[in-house]
Amino acid sequence: MRDDAGIEPSRTFPPLVTEGELEHLVQTVKDWATGHGLVVRPPPTVIAAEADPNNIAAVPAPVTLFPSGIARHAFRKGLAAQKAYNELYAAVSRSEEFLAQIVKEVIDGDDFVRDLWAVHQTKPLSLGLFRSDYMAHEDTSVFPPFQQLKQVEFNTIASSFGGLSVRTAQLHQFLSKTEYPLLRQSVPEGTLDLPQNKAIEGLAGGIEAAFHAYGAPQTGHRKCVIFLVQGDERNIWDQRHLEYQVAKTSPSIPVFRLAFADIMKYTSLAKTELRQLLYSSPRNPEKKFEAAVVYMRAGYGPGDYPNQQAWDARCHLERSHAIKCPTVLTQLAGTKKVQQVLATPRSSAGPSILSRFIKDDTPSAIELWNTFTNIYPMDTSEVGLVARKKALDPEQCQDFVLKPQREGGGNNIYGSAIPEYLKSINESHWGSYILMELIKPASVQNLILRNGRIEQGGVINELGVYGACLWNQNTGELLHNEEAGWLLRTKGDKSEEGGVAAGYGCMDSVSLTLTNVDIQEEAEARANQ
Ligand code: ADP
Ligand code: MG
Repeated sequence: MRDDAGIEPSRTFPPLVTEGELEHLVQTVKDWATGHGLVVRPPPTVIAAEADPNNIAAVPAPVTLFPSGIARHAFRKGLAAQKAYNELYAAVSRSEEFLAQIVKEVIDGDDFVRDLWAVHQTKPLSLGLFRSDYMAHEDTSVFPPFQQLKQVEFNTIASSFGGLSVRTAQLHQFLSKTEYPLLRQSVPEGTLDLPQNKAIEGLAGGIEAAFHAYGAPQTGHRKCVIFLVQGDERNIWDQRHLEYQVAKTSPSIPVFRLAFADIMKYTSLAKTELRQLLYSSPRNPEKKFEAAVVYMRAGYGPGDYPNQQAWDARCHLERSHAIKCPTVLTQLAGTKKVQQVLATPRSSAGPSILSRFIKDDTPSAIELWNTFTNIYPMDTSEVGLVARKKALDPEQCQDFVLKPQREGGGNNIYGSAIPEYLKSINESHWGSYILMELIKPASVQNLILRNGRIEQGGVINELGVYGACLWNQNTGELLHNEEAGWLLRTKGDKSEEGGVAAGYGCMDSVSLTLTNVDIQEEAEARANQ
């Protein structure tokens, strides 16, 4: 931000804006966000619970004022890899033996994973609404630097922000037509390459595909979809957008929101061999539905399981005939330990583990390999002992993040905090962690609007790619396998965690940039035509 006289004409994007322009942009973004459901329930620090006793308030989600540049080739490859990732994780979910081994490796020190494993069951159909998260590693040994997406993690449960990411892309598209061209440092209409984002349709499409694949109800009740949620969810409109999409494309599908804590209160199992999941709404307990799909936006962390009743409820769902998104096995396939094992390259000792699940050496498998970064076990194997040494070394530890088998943000230990943390826990539990090399994406400039205030400075981006996959757990047949849109999140370059809901990161969208690699690849594609 500069005053009028101080504008630097050389800077192109994001443009430098004057105080007056900034004020106007902020007002425009606030209004657009509220007008289009780019909103969350207010954090208590913004609107205290006493000030909103009827729980009616919504506030704009934190967003960047401009989209962020991502190299076109990197973005395309990220989207293109998703179907292979879906296939891989469907295959991992089907391998009970492999997952049993994974659980065994982390069980000392991880009661949550142990308890999850204890309730797993298998049923024929399984739905995955996945999200593969990446940061762009920059190879600066070439000019201009080459961007390669590196996977941060793969989410198999409660992959969030599909709803808000579509709205954010639409916000930036709106601004690119109405506001950016009018700035003093004008960004003329049509100069930004802003890709469409189909995350809402893609994720809702997965739910609809599962609903239809479930077949006709056998209990005499109508079929329905259940969104299983946390009672105090702040990110509720992100979920509602998916629900509204189902209502738009398939108005005949009833969708109900059910709090994880209320599973046993409102559902029961039919006394049949299949054990259909019956749902009765609190509004009208007489009226029952047969739940065809249970889409979980809860149940991913220990916080949702405060007592044995909560575990019983998860077990009850798992035993039911409803198509779970995800099943316990698919949830376990999303652990960081699985990611570490899959990312381990083949060695003189034998082929890669990855090759057990998908054909190695195919172009799509090579794309997956390109997205992996070094991840090490923290066990007592030879590689694990080397990793332990790195993790405990005050210098070497700076390049790593230590991760337990947890989801939802706030659980990782970064860089110099690792040695002290390890020493604070029992050594017999170290094997339940993995040690991952830090990806160091280039920092870029942007402006973040959070709770009505502007934050300015260096930021880094994290791209998520959604996948929707429905498969037969017994035969491996893929009934639906789609790339399902994307998410761009941005955080301050000094912040380690990037969770939007946790208050660290913010929503952003992609502006595709053309690099030498793109120009070269496009020329090659033309020549090969
Ligand atoms: P969670 O399951 O809690 O979301 P993640 O593995 O996604 O855990 O890590 C949380 C955040 O920490 C990521 O969104 C990212 O910002 C940062 N992070 C995680 N792993 C790395 C890494 N290898 N390099 C750089 N940043 C990372
Ligand atoms: Mg994450």
